[in-house]
Amino acid sequence: LQNPETIGFQAEARQVLDLMIHSLYSNKEVFLRELISNAADAAEKLRFLALGNEGLYEGDSDLKIWIDVDKNARTLTVRDNGIGMTRQEVVDHIGTIARSGTRKFLESLTGDQAKDSQLIGQFGVGFYSAFIVADRVTLETRKAGVPAEEGVRWESDGRGEYRIATVTRPRRGTAVTLHLREGEDEFLDPVRLRQLIRKFSDHIPIPIVMKKESGAGEEVVNKASALWTRPRDEVRPEEYEEFYKHVAHDFEGPLAWLHSRVEGTSDEYTLLLYLPKRAPFDLWDREPAHGVKLYVRRVFIMEDPKLMPRYLRFVRGIIDSDSLPLNVSREILQENRALERIRAGAVKKVLGLLEDLAKNEPDKYRTFWQQFGTVLKEGIIEDPKNRDRIARLLRFASTRDESGEVSLADYVARMKEGQEKIHYLVAENAQAAKNSPHLEVFRHKDIEVLLLWEPVDEWLVAHLTEFEGKPLQSVAKGELDLGRLADDNEKKAQEVVAQAFQDTLDRIRKALAGRVADVKLSQRLTDSPACLVLDAYGLSRRMESILKASGQ
Ligand code: ADP
Ligand code: MG
Repeated sequence: LQNPETIGFQAEARQVLDLMIHSLYSNKEVFLRELISNAADAAEKLRFLALGNEGLYEGDSDLKIWIDVDKNARTLTVRDNGIGMTRQEVVDHIGTIARSGTRKFLESLTGDQAKDSQLIGQFGVGFYSAFIVADRVTLETRKAGVPAEEGVRWESDGRGEYRIATVTRPRRGTAVTLHLREGEDEFLDPVRLRQLIRKFSDHIPIPIVMKKESGAGEEVVNKASALWTRPRDEVRPEEYEEFYKHVAHDFEGPLAWLHSRVEGTSDEYTLLLYLPKRAPFDLWDREPAHGVKLYVRRVFIMEDPKLMPRYLRFVRGIIDSDSLPLNVSREILQENRALERIRAGAVKKVLGLLEDLAKNEPDKYRTFWQQFGTVLKEGIIEDPKNRDRIARLLRFASTRDESGEVSLADYVARMKEGQEKIHYLVAENAQAAKNSPHLEVFRHKDIEVLLLWEPVDEWLVAHLTEFEGKPLQSVAKGELDLGRLADDNEKKAQEVVAQAFQDTLDRIRKALAGRVADVKLSQRLTDSPACLVLDAYGLSRRMESILKASGQ
């Protein structure tokens, strides 16, 4: 051992570990999926880097994952010959939980174990799940391409601290050894392990190898073929679900998925894309940790949140292209025309999946909308080419239906005889929207008004000016024009009233001079005596406050 060092876990890491052990115990076997998943990621990273540097294989390009038990020592080892880690990488990736959402995650815990285990799942479980069943974990690793003397040994009991040292390690890759807790002997049983591997990791495209029962030689336990290359009708739903948990780092299954092979004139690619059941913690971060994974002819190239437009940043899964060049850098990929076409194709497929859910599986669509609706709204602004399709997927609350499930199509279908516009109100919050005096005349005339109150809504209505030929009109802006909905008698009555109030208006104008642009008689109100209105092209109140908040 060289340069041994003892380092304390970050307080947050310690807390997460502790929680994991207690809250996840009922699902303890997930640790195996997590360790295999890391080993598979490491193999895929090596395969990609070796495309540009064959030497990294060190003469061994046969990538595998080995699972070994030692019944006497009561240890279980998951080993790979993947990319491996340097000492610094071990400290950075294993010694700390450097996830952006950690604090937020800890803050959202309730103390109720059942609920919290869901949260932990959402957070991703990872390497630390080993401590659910082990009271000591040893990790040995050596990075591909570095001398054997630069191996690393890491060990911890998962409580306060870990030890790390430099060791000689002729084998490239990583071995994680679990010293099983009292009572966890089921994980020393090869039959049980095979069963778990088939359940969790059948689809992993790297062979998972165990010693043969007879003791002589080894055998591959999983299917080890990329799941997405198999025909759709030969993949069981459970297999799709397990694959999702692997690619998405999720603990729960997906809400829905699409699996499709596209054979166009210039591109051929396969999509296996999923919608999660829940928003990840970093949904609102500038640089989310995860995204869709790009493969070229089964070789993992990169995982990049930018493979999908921002408004679909919650989509997970893989895109595997047959037509992109293998030896490309990230930078080149970002500007590759073929990749642009593939992205556009993937976006269309995802919108198709959402349309299908909205139509045929309303409960699922409701879940989707609750989790990701706010993000999807950004698409109206970000993706003008698909604006009509996205508009159809939007859901709102309205004066008629507060459930928040009114589509623009529903609204249009309910429009009154003679109604020409889609009326909406943007307010600070739901309460303010419902109680706005601007709604009085619409209530009185039984005209539905869409109620919006999310920060993105202001931008949404600025970009979505019409739907199916019907203009969207704010109830708070400009002249109240109810079109043919105002009847002749009303118009006559208004003229009479206007005459009668001429002097009053002049007096109010004088009194408020410089503080308001104008004072007008209004048909908006039926109960309130007065309200503030914006001129047709003016900034709305909410926009004004947003601009003020940002210092403009
Ligand atoms: P995640 O896989 O979601 O990143 P984990 O806790 O499972 O989170 O793993 C943390 C990090 O540790 C990985 O991202 C990777 O950098 C590193 N790591 C874990 N296991 C291995 C392994 N077998 N080989 C190489 N690196 C690994
Ligand atoms: Mg992992």
